[in-house]
Amino acid sequence: MSSCIFCKIISKEIAGKIVYEDDQWFAFDDINPQAPVHVLIVPREHIPTLNDLKEHHRDMIGSLGSVINKVAGIKNVKDPGFRVVINCNPDGGQLVYHLHVHLLAGRQMTWPPG
Ligand code: 5GP
Ligand code: ZN
Repeated sequence: MSSCIFCKIISKEIAGKIVYEDDQWFAFDDINPQAPVHVLIVPREHIPTLNDLKEHHRDMIGSLGSVINKVAGIKNVKDPGFRVVINCNPDGGQLVYHLHVHLLAGRQMTWPPG
């Protein structure tokens, strides 16, 4: 989608610090990190929110676990640990309407989240 900031990062129209990419997923450092490691993992396809996932996305979503695993390995945070978060719609705190997973690490996370 031409007006979407994450689509522009995926197409490399605007710069992003790329961490990982494959045919379905793209991962890059968050511009405003909330932890020492803060990576956004996004599908190449423009899907606005978690609510927009359809049956045909099943394989793509099935591969998400291994992509998270790879990104955590690239960032060397598997052993200390990390958190993954998906915000959905206004009450979930979503600001960018291209589905994305936050991978946060490098500090002690707290619970409950804000
Ligand atoms: P949300 O609140 O939608 O779950 O998270 C959106 C995230 O996108 C925020 O953490 C924000 O810092 C990040 N973000 C917004 N614009 C850009 C950008 O242009 N580049 C990068 N790398 N991250 C962005
Ligand atoms: Zn998009």
